[in-house]
Amino acid sequence: MRSIIIILLSTLLTGQIPLKYHENITPTYEEAITWYKQLDNEYKTAKLFTYGLTDIGKPLHLFVISSDKKFDPNTYRSKGECMIMINNAIHPGEPCGVDASLEFAEDLLRNNKIPENVIIGIIPAYNIGGVLNRNSTTRANQNGPEDYGFRGNARNLDLNRDFIKTDSENAKSITKIFHEWNPDFFIDTHTTNGADYQHIMTMISPHPLNFPPVLQDFVKTELLPSLYSSMESVGFPMVPYVTPVKDIPDSGLRSGISSPRYSNGYSPLFNTFGFISEAHMFKTYAERVESTIAFLKIVLNFTKKNSEEIIALRQKANDYLKSQTEFTLTWETDTTRFDLINFNGYEAEYKTSKVTGFERLYYNRNKPWTKQIPLFNYVTAGIQVTKPDYYVLPQAWGEVIERLELNNIEFNRLSKDTVITGEMYFIKDVGNPEVPFNGHFVHSKIGVEKVSKSKQFYAGDLLIPMNQVGNRYVIETLEPQARDSFFRWNFFDSILEQREYFSPYVFEETAEKMLINDAELKKEFEAKQANDEDFAKDARAQLYFLYQRSPNFEADYRLYPVMRVIN
Ligand SMILES: [Zn+2]
Repeated sequence: MRSIIIILLSTLLTGQIPLKYHENITPTYEEAITWYKQLDNEYKTAKLFTYGLTDIGKPLHLFVISSDKKFDPNTYRSKGECMIMINNAIHPGEPCGVDASLEFAEDLLRNNKIPENVIIGIIPAYNIGGVLNRNSTTRANQNGPEDYGFRGNARNLDLNRDFIKTDSENAKSITKIFHEWNPDFFIDTHTTNGADYQHIMTMISPHPLNFPPVLQDFVKTELLPSLYSSMESVGFPMVPYVTPVKDIPDSGLRSGISSPRYSNGYSPLFNTFGFISEAHMFKTYAERVESTIAFLKIVLNFTKKNSEEIIALRQKANDYLKSQTEFTLTWETDTTRFDLINFNGYEAEYKTSKVTGFERLYYNRNKPWTKQIPLFNYVTAGIQVTKPDYYVLPQAWGEVIERLELNNIEFNRLSKDTVITGEMYFIKDVGNPEVPFNGHFVHSKIGVEKVSKSKQFYAGDLLIPMNQVGNRYVIETLEPQARDSFFRWNFFDSILEQREYFSPYVFEETAEKMLINDAELKKEFEAKQANDEDFAKDARAQLYFLYQRSPNFEADYRLYPVMRVIN
């Protein structure tokens, strides 16, 4: 009798996780964490960690599966093991990865399928604030599940725009996880928005050119073809995430190099292969979860087979990063080059809208088609920079320093006050939006003028040597024209303001003397009066023109404070 009770009790405590995705239900935050705790209790090959906080005040969890039960981020790679990191519910309205990861983890543990050479890390729910904000309405275009979380986090940030700027506590915590474990793969699980078509799973894949040359061939000829063909062989033919060139997929898709605000643009800065799995919003919830499970299994299988090559190539890529001299800051899609891909679509048709009276688009699911369509996945380099030997960053910019430290960027501090000569940028043009984007008035169209300057720095200011694995991160954050630079994200905005001004009635005499003593200036001034109608009518503008050219004007107005030092 007693043994029966023990068996019954242990079955209850260790029973299979009661996932209900076949009933169109995804677990709550509490359920998911309870089940990961249950797996941690039940299996010595699994461990649930917490890492720092999130904006809602709850800790971020990381669930690690490792066949050797060591869970040591510092030693696994030297033993020939790779790591796959899976991030779920960054967009909590798209929770298929939450269910998929639980089933994937339980299957590996219960059925003893953990490869000896791959560690798996799972973030059960990244945007915890959004997961807790559960509702059944905010995914207007999505087919289930019954309830789900909300896209914004506790600060209403979209965390899949927060990787490089790291505003949220969530992002700070995941950055610690990322650098402590240094995964080979980082998979962010999502559900699509946009067009209708037959494919259940799509993927935003790493672009070969987002990696050093030593990895480009591997990504292009081994990794991506293997993932696409494996997904097809298990019944989920996959295509790149559907970003149509025009309004429907028929005329082709566009695919570029993700910028580091996204997980799949951030992870390549450290030679990690970043993927975004995107299950299709109109498929049943069960199909979305199952296709996500299939994707996770296929990445695991690929890693298991290729771990030695992955470790060796990433090591070479890291070495290359230390000595790479030229870096591309911006990319353009090449609209003249494309590959053809097989696509399973639905006929796009148009009819008159009963709401607006205008012509409206609909996809006719009774008319499925399969044909080849162009994928515009070639890019050309835009702005490029040569790396300096050092960047000098004044200690005043503490938020920037905090982020460099989070990303393991090595730097020294000046031991004494020192005048340093190097290149600096004046910010000449900057576009400002009228509404904020993810908590910032993100600058566009940044124009700079590079000048040579000698500048006083002080004991404690940072010297950042550009011979480190983190070089690409430093370039992408400190070069103001980079797509997601800290300048662009407003970390340096106070330099855009003028601090001192003048009173016109006092400055009149100075201005008069300037024109008497400087014939060239007088010529320039008079030409502007003659040719610029607004200027000619504006006394203050005319005085300001001369003030800007006087010794009274602040010399460092719009001077970007980070110096590039070239030895
Ligand atoms: Zn998403």
